Amino acid sequence: MSTPPNPNAPTDVADPVTGSWHSEPSRWSILVHGGAGDVSAEAVSAHVKGCERAAAVGAKVLAAGGSALDAVQRAVEALESDPLFNAGTGACLDSDGHLSLDASIMDGDGLRAGGVCALPAFEHPVAVARCVMESTPHVLLAGEAAARFAVAEGFSRAEEGTMVTPAARTKWHAARARGVAENWAGDDTEDAVAAPTQPRTKIDTSGGTVGAVARDANGHVAAATSTGGMVNKLAGRVGDSPVVGAGSYADDEAGACSTTGHGEAMLKLGLAKAAIDALRTDALQFDALRTAGAAVAAARQVIALMHRRLGQTGGLIVVAADGSLGLARTTRTMTWASCRANDLAQANELDWAEVCQSGS
Ligand code: ASP
Repeated sequence: MSTPPNPNAPTDVADPVTGSWHSEPSRWSILVHGGAGDVSAEAVSAHVKGCERAAAVGAKVLAAGGSALDAVQRAVEALESDPLFNAGTGACLDSDGHLSLDASIMDGDGLRAGGVCALPAFEHPVAVARCVMESTPHVLLAGEAAARFAVAEGFSRAEEGTMVTPAARTKWHAARARGVAENWAGDDTEDAVAAPTQPRTKIDTSGGTVGAVARDANGHVAAATSTGGMVNKLAGRVGDSPVVGAGSYADDEAGACSTTGHGEAMLKLGLAKAAIDALRTDALQFDALRTAGAAVAAARQVIALMHRRLGQTGGLIVVAADGSLGLARTTRTMTWASCRANDLAQANELDWAEVCQSGS
């Protein structure tokens, strides 16, 4: 029998596996992420603020008695509209110089799920993913056929040029010049943060995929994830984010998860489902971590496994069925924000941004 990895053991990445969490149950809760990567110190607050705005959008849904499914969709849509993140507007370009968008959503109530992959320009791929879930007997639609489906369902195709930011073009040219496909960065130069529409002057390797997990007051959980994938990815490449079990997973019996990071590794390990399966039974290997909360224990366990087995980095967010939250990452940063009924009780209900807790 092999010895289980110690999630607290130092790894050879810049930062060891690490987590931040709210281990107490909460009537409703939401946690969003803005991508695992390496956002510069100067830029991290802009990314955190984007996460806070998205968490607040989802929290309003939950506080009004709305569903976890609506909350994660609205939160991810807010991040898709924010050009700082690699999803929707601001997403990266593939090797043909086009948007190829991936998204998924899953409802823990009945294991309903939908996804789109290699989708051309649409403002909210996560909304199309939800439509796949609700209007078809299928789980995943791809490419131009997915676009035709979306239009038939009433979505408008976007003009690609209106969704591609100067930052995305600059990064694409740089990746082409280097002849590589690389992890996306958020728009994190000082000048880009000050003026998001201006071209970037520096290339980085930070994260930028977005995701959300939530539990609602009726005890249902949901997860959603959206991304442009990797800069200069081979045209046709599909990552983990639209794939149920890899990028998103939700089951009311256990919890919900959204992942970010090296998509190929997450696909190989079915990372989102691995995290939820760890919550489901006594599959959690680390008793010491249980005291920190099952959600963070599950997150740490699977992100450590990914690094140990495949040497790849990333991060994930988890909500357990009781509303407790957890996250873990092996990258230098993963911006996040959360909001819970517990926090709201002590705060000015109108000041949603302050109600949110957040970090990187
Ligand atoms: N997981 C995404 C992909 O591989 C990228 C990311 O999360 O940064 O497409």
